[in-house]
Amino acid sequence: MKKHNFSAGPCILPQSVLQQAAAAVKNFNDLNLSLLEISHRSKDFVAVMDTARSLALTHLGLQNKGYQALFLQGGASMQFLMTAYNLLEKKAAYLNTGTWSDKAIKEAKLLGEVVEVASSKSDNFNYIPKNYSIPGDADYFHCTSNNTIFGTQLQQFPETDIPMVCDMSSDIFSRQLDFSKFDLIYAGAQKNMGPAGATLVVVKEEILGKVSRAIPSMLNYKVQIGKESMFNTPSVFAVYVSMLTLQWLEDAGGISAIEKVNNQKAALLYAEIDRNSLFEGYVAKKEDRSKMNATFNLKDEQLKATFDDTLKQAGISGINGHRSVGGYRASMYNALPLESVAVLVDVMQTVEKGA
Ligand SMILES: *Cc1c(COP(=O)(O)O)cnc(C)c1O
Repeated sequence: MKKHNFSAGPCILPQSVLQQAAAAVKNFNDLNLSLLEISHRSKDFVAVMDTARSLALTHLGLQNKGYQALFLQGGASMQFLMTAYNLLEKKAAYLNTGTWSDKAIKEAKLLGEVVEVASSKSDNFNYIPKNYSIPGDADYFHCTSNNTIFGTQLQQFPETDIPMVCDMSSDIFSRQLDFSKFDLIYAGAQKNMGPAGATLVVVKEEILGKVSRAIPSMLNYKVQIGKESMFNTPSVFAVYVSMLTLQWLEDAGGISAIEKVNNQKAALLYAEIDRNSLFEGYVAKKEDRSKMNATFNLKDEQLKATFDDTLKQAGISGINGHRSVGGYRASMYNALPLESVAVLVDVMQTVEKGA
């Protein structure tokens, strides 16, 4: 039975990518060797790493603009620490919009002063704070573009003269932005780019080398750049599948084309959440709704068993809310087809008719 995978992460990948990845595990580049059993220094794998890094910059429009792309390990969570290690001399400014921002703040505090410019924590992160000011003497400003758990998303980014750092784990490559406004972008691969195990970092080189602390090699962006993302053995499979997904995105017309589909998917689902008498938006305030993760709930908990059963029969999986939030969460990443959202809407309507 066809599955409709609304999982929040790890999550859906394009079918064609999974097929190519499966083939490469058996026989990579006609070498009669698995991708998993060759040296990461071999010319075949070095080409994979180079292509993945280059495609990431091309999609973001940052090729030849002083940026470097890296594929590192440790997840986005390692970047919470690594960004501060490399950029925080005295004081950094953070916008607190969710669990992931909160965790980033905690790590940064290990290395210096953190100013929370605004926070929606006391309202269970149900909105994106707007009118705040960023201290001009901070070393950088950090924000999270999409709050995967609560289903909110920044529609606008502040103007600031200090370097802007952004955790884009759950919406990178999903929408067009002026990415040159950001000085460092990071994203765990497993939301919109590939399998778990690799983390993309895109960094403007000129912001590096300004802190006085000694930085351990593995945590040092300059070292990672100098070694072309191969300081140690990279996560070869995760990088390869990320490369395939970035190629798939290119074939699909790039970010501008996928953004149109993402807009259609989000519009279709939110319209149904608002129209259907059984459902309501959950947690996220309307004006800050995420196009990647839609949080919603049944108004009447008694219908839960019926709804869950109908979802299951339709092949819908991965739609439960985060364990800290509850309710439902439909994650509509790039690889999720519009058709899957239509199936979900159909289930919501079927349950409404039966109620
Ligand atoms: C999932 C997620 C993280 C954590 O990613 P890991 O790779 O598991 O460390 C961080 N930030 C955001 C926005 C996320 O969605």
